[in-house]
Amino acid sequence: MANKIVIVGGVAGGANVAAQIRRNDNDSKITLFDKDEHVAFSTCGMPYYIGGVVDKRDQLLVSSDKIAGKFDLDLRTNTEVTSIDRENKQLTYRDSAGEHRTSYDKLILSPGASAKKPELEGMNDNRTFTLHSIPDMDAIEHYIETEKPQSCAIVGAGFVGLEMVENIHARGIDCTIIDRSEQVMKLVDQDMAAIIENHLKAKGVQLLLDESLESFSNNGATLDLTSGKSVQADMTIMAVGIRPNKVLAEDSGLEIGETGGIKVNDYMQTSDPDIYALGDAIQTNDLLTGTPRHVALAGPAHRQAFILVNHLQGGTNPYAGVQGTAIFKVFNLSAGATGLNKAVLKHLDINYKEAVHEGLSHAGYYPSAEKITLKVLFDAENGRIYGAQAVGREGVDKRLAVMATVMKAKMTVYDLPELELGYAPPYSSPKDPINVLGYKAESMLES
Ligand SMILES: Cc1cc2nc3c(=O)[nH]c(=O)nc-3n(C[C@H](O)[C@H](O)[C@H](O)COP(=O)(O)OP(=O)(O)OC[C@H]3O[C@@H](n4cnc5c(N)ncnc54)[C@H](O)[C@@H]3O)c2cc1C
Repeated sequence: MANKIVIVGGVAGGANVAAQIRRNDNDSKITLFDKDEHVAFSTCGMPYYIGGVVDKRDQLLVSSDKIAGKFDLDLRTNTEVTSIDRENKQLTYRDSAGEHRTSYDKLILSPGASAKKPELEGMNDNRTFTLHSIPDMDAIEHYIETEKPQSCAIVGAGFVGLEMVENIHARGIDCTIIDRSEQVMKLVDQDMAAIIENHLKAKGVQLLLDESLESFSNNGATLDLTSGKSVQADMTIMAVGIRPNKVLAEDSGLEIGETGGIKVNDYMQTSDPDIYALGDAIQTNDLLTGTPRHVALAGPAHRQAFILVNHLQGGTNPYAGVQGTAIFKVFNLSAGATGLNKAVLKHLDINYKEAVHEGLSHAGYYPSAEKITLKVLFDAENGRIYGAQAVGREGVDKRLAVMATVMKAKMTVYDLPELELGYAPPYSSPKDPINVLGYKAESMLES
């Protein structure tokens, strides 16, 4: 049956939903609203444009006309949806001509998240940036080009913070990282993060951990920390996290979960069955434990788009839950994690053990073998894999992908030595580091 489908948000989640609907349905009318000018852009590529790895801005963008034409969309950019009237199945939106209303049969919310930018005393918005949208990226690029900053403070050592350090540094700018935690990248455990920290220091990045930014002074060029220390910086990137864009959902009475994301069921339906939601705005359940989780990653958003459209078109494929597999690059290192880390396992009071192995990415005698550190976290009784982490210069993505797969397949550490992962000197060793990690882990269970 032809429907009037309205989508709010046109980047990873929203654009994917529109494309998926059109695979089987040429009749429904699809209206897609985005409050920004750009839709379906490559968010994940933005740090690399700033660093000059991606040399043309256009490489990150897709033409709105092209998308609208290809998927037969009524595409409204620069148009913000401001409220939902669930009772009458209508919504209000605002564009340059003012406020309007439109109706929907099915409404899909993919409004993403917003970068947190705490209102700190003395902050100068002209030199303090976040990175979440194309205008954010353009503002950073413009500042670097016109003001030629010599120094940059990056507040927050998570995903975006660390990617920005590498890319700002690539522009010849001295970088200082400030994070209130005792380690960088809380996705991985402290021992794995220490490898990243040493690498950052070796690259000349100043690290101020266990330090909180309290305020700015000197027209925003001095960052005053709670410890009494201060940092001088010509520019500051605030990468202190994101918050789900839930206001639209909350104001219309949709249920919000304990993590702050919009609550959805296994088919991405909100508490109103005619309204679906996906992406950074929602709360999902952890694949393994079923506990609520808010994960802001592109892979899960794409999978959720598939699940959502399958249900919209009469299917019953449930969403399995989110595993949280993430990988990132910091200068010459790659680091990644899947599943649960130590902090989460402790928080959930799960009885776990961990094995760590430091091996080589491939045969040591074959040129450019690099050290790789792998960790597996597993059930202390039956060896079921709860999570894994990998850090190194080469071969990290492959080991992470294998560990993510064995975890999804509900394997145990006893399976790891049995995996035949393919060996020739340029790629691995007859016993891949994952096999060795498995031998270590199973010996811990046997003893
Ligand atoms: C710098 C950066 C790097 C990243 N790198 C990676 C990576 O390497 N790997 C990875 O897996 N993930 C990465 N991510 C995360 C990934 O981009 C997100 O998980 C993904 O984009 C989420 O998709 P979404 O559709 O939920 O939200 P978004 O892609 O953020 O789209 C939301 C859209 O909704 C619009 N919108 C919001 N409210 C309204 C409204 N009321 N009316 C109309 N429009 C509205 C917004 O303007 C926005 O365009 C990165 C994110 C950032 C910021």
